[in-house]
Amino acid sequence: MTHDDCIFCRILKGEAQADFLYRDDDLAAFWDTRPAAPVHILIVPNKHIASINEADDEDAELLGKLILKARDLAKEVGVDEKGYRLVFNVGKDGGQTVYHIHLHLIAGTKLPIFRH
Ligand code: C5P
Repeated sequence: MTHDDCIFCRILKGEAQADFLYRDDDLAAFWDTRPAAPVHILIVPNKHIASINEADDEDAELLGKLILKARDLAKEVGVDEKGYRLVFNVGKDGGQTVYHIHLHLIAGTKLPIFRH
């Protein structure tokens, strides 16, 4: 289930460039091309799901895998002890620009706390 007009589907199919850290049958991880911090990795399911809003209950295991892969990658790149942030942006107000679920792993600096 891929979408030709989805940049992350195109990356996953090898039709667009990305610097991969990890791939398996369920998910992939690659470096964000416009990093918000010294470490900025995207963990992306192979299955096209537009956003958390469109995820089904049957996607629960897949979404859990994204989080646990982020944990493993945080350790692999050496930011697990100092800490990191995991973020799903959802929709317009959430700042989502690519409508294929992705988990941001952001680290490598003291991250600002959001306050209203
Ligand atoms: O959560 P949001 O949808 O805004 O995140 C999309 C992210 O995908 C951005 O951080 C952007 O830099 C990244 N991106 C990328 N490579 C692309 C297109 C987008 O790393 N080809």
